[in-house]
Amino acid sequence: MDATNIQKKIVILGAGESGTGAAILAKLKGFIVLVSDKSEIKPAYKALLNTYNITWEEGTHTEESILDATEIIKSPGIPDKAPIIKKIIAKEIPILSEIEFAGRYTQAKMVCITGSNGKTTTTMLTYHILKEAGLDVGLAGNVGHSLALQVAIDPHDYYVIELSSFQLDNMYKFKADIAILLNVTPDHLDRYNYEMQNYIDAKFRILQNQTEQDAFIYWNDDPIIKKELSKYTPAASCFPFSLHKDEETKGYVEDGELVFKTPQGEFVMEQDLLALLGTHNVYNSLASGISAKLLDIHNDQIRASLSDFLGVEHRLEKVARVRGVDYINDSKATNVNACWYALQSVRTDLTLILGGTDKGNDYIEIEALVKEKVKCLIFLGVDNTKLHAFFDGAVACIKDANSMEEAVDIAYRNTTKGQTVLLSPCCASFDLFTSYEDRGNQFKTAVRNL
Ligand code: ADP
Repeated sequence: MDATNIQKKIVILGAGESGTGAAILAKLKGFIVLVSDKSEIKPAYKALLNTYNITWEEGTHTEESILDATEIIKSPGIPDKAPIIKKIIAKEIPILSEIEFAGRYTQAKMVCITGSNGKTTTTMLTYHILKEAGLDVGLAGNVGHSLALQVAIDPHDYYVIELSSFQLDNMYKFKADIAILLNVTPDHLDRYNYEMQNYIDAKFRILQNQTEQDAFIYWNDDPIIKKELSKYTPAASCFPFSLHKDEETKGYVEDGELVFKTPQGEFVMEQDLLALLGTHNVYNSLASGISAKLLDIHNDQIRASLSDFLGVEHRLEKVARVRGVDYINDSKATNVNACWYALQSVRTDLTLILGGTDKGNDYIEIEALVKEKVKCLIFLGVDNTKLHAFFDGAVACIKDANSMEEAVDIAYRNTTKGQTVLLSPCCASFDLFTSYEDRGNQFKTAVRNL
């Protein structure tokens, strides 16, 4: 408990994993704490808040009790255009993310991962390597438990943290010891005034406060990252990775081998040994491997962990083979770029199930691959107008579905032996499902019931 905090009030907006964790940390540090959630708070989080005697409200935001806060910690899910946030901004009350707040109370080494796609996979893979190597490591951010909660009650020496642009938006003094930027492609533009540069700027906040002691790992072939880096030189040591070797790259593929070069030495590993398939996962493995090498993890341990990682649910997850047809659940492909990688990594002709809540998608990115590989398109959404406008005529078989069961049934009847059925929706799930997990689980259930 810090006596200087006793008169300071912290208001936490949103009582999910991050908000509840932040509330507990704030309480233990002696702040006056209020948690306010416009929706209903899950029973498990209510119980946790009660255990720590934390005041909370649900179904409403009581303005008087919020607008007298010293600082606000905002759930990344709440947009700046929400009325309460507008009022907070007008009153110039500082708004932080849970990660920023937790960062004040730990000296642990932070490996932070951002990008438009591949964050969870790379975070889980990096965590797997560090944990298997015996480091005292926590998993935080969009996956695992709240960083603040771990800092409060179960602190670690290292954290591997998945950072979304929304978390980065409200980070100011936090520093990543190792920052990984996987790629930047359009996503969430609805939260960035449809200005791509705003979204790019958010992603690049991962570099803020880094010094030459720190490391910046990034995909060297990403045109947007390249353009940004032409504007300034990061303070940290740079470790670009690529499929190709050149003077700059510190992680690359050469003659079927992944090569990693860091000041701690060099490490080479056969690409065939990688547990995760697909070009995108070569990138993810390069990024994870460089960070592990920078933390001085032994080559044998990195090799073993990159080879035995089990993958993450809903990301190119093989569900079953039914009558010679493979069914793949890539429900987490909530943007067009992720679907492009999925299409690219499937080696057979296929039926593609896509659709949902559009986030300003431009399907041109997958048009060529769809024409080349997709024999049947199934649009699964409440409003499929945009998909029809773009794809009608491009593929002979185009069908609409209103439920996952119907989509899988149509796929079953329109896919021939030797082909693949891929759920890779390009869209958010909220029109028909509660989440991408719900969508993926419904897909798996429907496939298993065939
Ligand atoms: P995120 O957490 O950034 O959403 P995930 O690891 O959950 O990333 O993967 C999301 C989707 O992106 C999945 O469909 C996955 O197959 C695809 N994907 C994974 N890694 C990459 C990458 N490096 N580049 C592009 N797509 C990727």
